[in-house]
Amino acid sequence: MRKRVFRTWKRKIKKASEYRGGEYLKEEAKDIYTPVKWRCAFGNEFAMSTNAVLHGGHWCPECLKKSWAYPKIDRKNPFYA
Ligand SMILES: [Zn+2]
Repeated sequence: MRKRVFRTWKRKIKKASEYRGGEYLKEEAKDIYTPVKWRCAFGNEFAMSTNAVLHGGHWCPECLKKSWAYPKIDRKNPFYA
């Protein structure tokens, strides 16, 4: 019973990470509240619990930090000048 739940859960993890263009790096979590390693589409590695990703909709904290800075980066980028 527990194993079956775990397998469904792993498939969900894979789907969730692929949907975001990233990867799930480790499958060692004992439960969904234990932080595990992920890698986003931009190569940032971060630790986050499966629960936060699957149910909380959270993803890469590095990209989150950068997303609000994008307009600034564009202005500084010579190609856009
Ligand atoms: Zn990222």
